[in-house]
Amino acid sequence: MTARIIDGAAIAAAVRADVAHDVAAHIAIGGRRPHLSVVLVGDDPASHVYVRNKGRACEEVGMTSETIALLATTSQQKVLEVVARLNADLAVSGILVQMPLPAHIDASAVLRAIDPRKDVDGLTPTNQGLLLQGTPDLIPATPAGVLEMLRRSDIDPEGQRVVVVGRSVLVGRPLAMLLANRMPGANATVTIAHTGTRDLGAVTREADILIAAMGRPRAITAAMVKPGATVVDVGINQILDATRKSGTRLVGDVDFESVKDVAGAITPVPGGVGPMTIAMLVVSTLRAARRQEAT
Ligand code: NAP
Repeated sequence: MTARIIDGAAIAAAVRADVAHDVAAHIAIGGRRPHLSVVLVGDDPASHVYVRNKGRACEEVGMTSETIALLATTSQQKVLEVVARLNADLAVSGILVQMPLPAHIDASAVLRAIDPRKDVDGLTPTNQGLLLQGTPDLIPATPAGVLEMLRRSDIDPEGQRVVVVGRSVLVGRPLAMLLANRMPGANATVTIAHTGTRDLGAVTREADILIAAMGRPRAITAAMVKPGATVVDVGINQILDATRKSGTRLVGDVDFESVKDVAGAITPVPGGVGPMTIAMLVVSTLRAARRQEAT
């Protein structure tokens, strides 16, 4: 069997087109143009690329955005002051503090300082708590992207066995919570696997939908996948590749070449979950803008 390839880039483009339509409708009825403020501390090259892509996505859907770039040596107090200013600014719909932050800054203190109504990354304790209680509001973009991708691919997790490998605050944990929620496009039986899991292959082979969010290049092999399962690869890992001019290439947490012959459907890397993450950020920004204007 050769798996159906789930084209994340195409689905993300469809999501952005829908958001562009909704932004135009929001403005047509007198709403403010949604605005995303991104706080970027330091000079991590990958973060700069992500932030640029987020700005482009905003522009494409008719939103404005700004990047507040701060030196790597910026104090925590200064970052907190910037967040406080953005919280108070009525023109700012969404605030995103790009992770990782430099080691001298307490990331959780910065996240706690963001107004939950503007927390488009869904990382404040309020938004994480709402998710845990089964009433999610603003949710992290990558988990949201995975659910939206499944929905638009007509893969319904309802009643299915889902295994999420990874329990990070950013991806694995919120994704597992969302999928276990009693709501359309979820309502699955969810297992969370991690480095403490004994016999990972035996657990992953149980999955109708297997989601890898581990940060381990090609760790999920064909022998770990139930024939016909849907495999979602969240991982983005840079590996050495002497055949490339750059000397490196991106691979996921799934061994795509072998797994595609076993799975029923699979997301590629790149071109899978990555573009969905950015598309869901603009969805969140519009949601935040509408919510603030309604109150
Ligand atoms: P993370 O914070 O490093 O968490 C990785 C998780 O995977 C941890 O819970 C860890 O378990 C688990 N894990 C690692 N190796 C494992 C193994 N051999 N067996 C079982 N579990 C294992 O990473 P993250 O932030 O969640 O990101 C995960 C991957 O997704 C990374 O490649 C990242 O680049 C990528 N990512 C992609 C997007 C996107 O837009 N596509 C967005 C965010 C992240 P323990 O808890 O036991 O350590």
